[in-house]
Amino acid sequence: MKKAEKKLKVLLIRPKYSSIVANLEPLGLEYLAGLANELNIECRIHDEFQYPWTFRFERMCRIIEEGGYNFIGFNSNANTVDYIKLRAYQLKQRFPGIFIMVGGPEAELNYRDFCTKYTDLVYHDNGLATLKNIWTEGLTKEVFSRQTGICYRGDKGWIVKKKGAPVNGFIVKPDRTAFYKGLKKNFIFMKGKYALSKASFSCPFRCSFCYCTKMNSGKYTERNIMEVVDEIQEIRHDRIWFVDDTFFFDTDRVTAFCREVIRRGIKKNFMAYSRADFLAEHPEVLPLAYRAGFRDILVGLEAITDDQLTDYNKQTTREENIAAIRNLHKNHIACNGLFVISHTATRKDFSNLLKFIKENNLLWVVFGIFTPYKGTDAYDEYRDQLINFRSWRLDGTHITIKPENMSSVEFMLRYYALHLITYPKIMTRTLTGTGYDTMKKGWF
Ligand code: SF4
Repeated sequence: MKKAEKKLKVLLIRPKYSSIVANLEPLGLEYLAGLANELNIECRIHDEFQYPWTFRFERMCRIIEEGGYNFIGFNSNANTVDYIKLRAYQLKQRFPGIFIMVGGPEAELNYRDFCTKYTDLVYHDNGLATLKNIWTEGLTKEVFSRQTGICYRGDKGWIVKKKGAPVNGFIVKPDRTAFYKGLKKNFIFMKGKYALSKASFSCPFRCSFCYCTKMNSGKYTERNIMEVVDEIQEIRHDRIWFVDDTFFFDTDRVTAFCREVIRRGIKKNFMAYSRADFLAEHPEVLPLAYRAGFRDILVGLEAITDDQLTDYNKQTTREENIAAIRNLHKNHIACNGLFVISHTATRKDFSNLLKFIKENNLLWVVFGIFTPYKGTDAYDEYRDQLINFRSWRLDGTHITIKPENMSSVEFMLRYYALHLITYPKIMTRTLTGTGYDTMKKGWF
């Protein structure tokens, strides 16, 4: 099998999609690159976010030709499914002997969608142990037949191997070369450049629209928190975003993390997700979190009425949302309020949302349109009502269910208006250096 290792040349591709709010590190692929390093396999990440929109396919082909890559791994998201399928087809025409694997969040959940004529392997397992086996032992059906969490083509069609057990850690460290190389273009709107870290898997809650909770076979697990501190200490960057679905979940764990960061004298700024109910119930952890370096908490407030929150199965209340904002602000941590605009929204709902933002002095806000992503509970509920449900539109900024209380045009105008009304203030406050003055109310 040493022979196969030598021959394998891996190109990992992150397809680009339009985003004006962020350009982030390809962390998922960096873990694969870390695995390739460990196995002594030549590997490169082609992050399309680092390049212009033009000549994408020609660029991809040139990289494959010049590097002699024979194994292509695509990282999939809901909004890149069609793009990956098209590229797989085109690449097979151009390089008939090339091996194409699709992995990433969308493949983990909706693996059958990638079982096409032009894909060789769909990776949907929890963790990278199966990939390690395949890269070590060879790309043969015999090897595939002994694995978990993959789909491959058998003699009579696609064979789906069941997922392995949920994971609670990574078997390798990420190779962050792509992050350091791409730092120039890395950004989060009005916040700067961030490295990413992931300290847990999936989420213990079950919001109906949520994709993340279905990951890792729907089982929430945590990495050893001291290992996480080691990791962030090693990152040569001073801003870290924990992309865990909810980092602030267990007070003991958060406290242990913060104390260790302070004890080691790590001076970095952190951003992380938390639920509103945690922040409402545990304000005592916030002074310590501030001292450790937390400056941004992303809170899925989602809605401002209890009815709507119940509809989303959020298991939080309007009062908890308000308390969460207040507790963060009191502790000088920016509350980044994430809202989901429902297709049932009325004109009054749009204006009430703006009123809520103003009344609670919420500066940092993000608005997404309710999208029943395939694989979520909401998809099962709304599958008969979907409109224009095309892959590139599945990014939370497009209508995929007809608005009930206004035309689609008016809904989109009101959606854009939310940004037009709130974002100039974010920009002004950032430019005047008061974006993190959480008690300040005005524009300057
Ligand atoms: S929306 Fe947040 S809290 Fe709800 S299931 Fe998803 S990750 Fe968990």
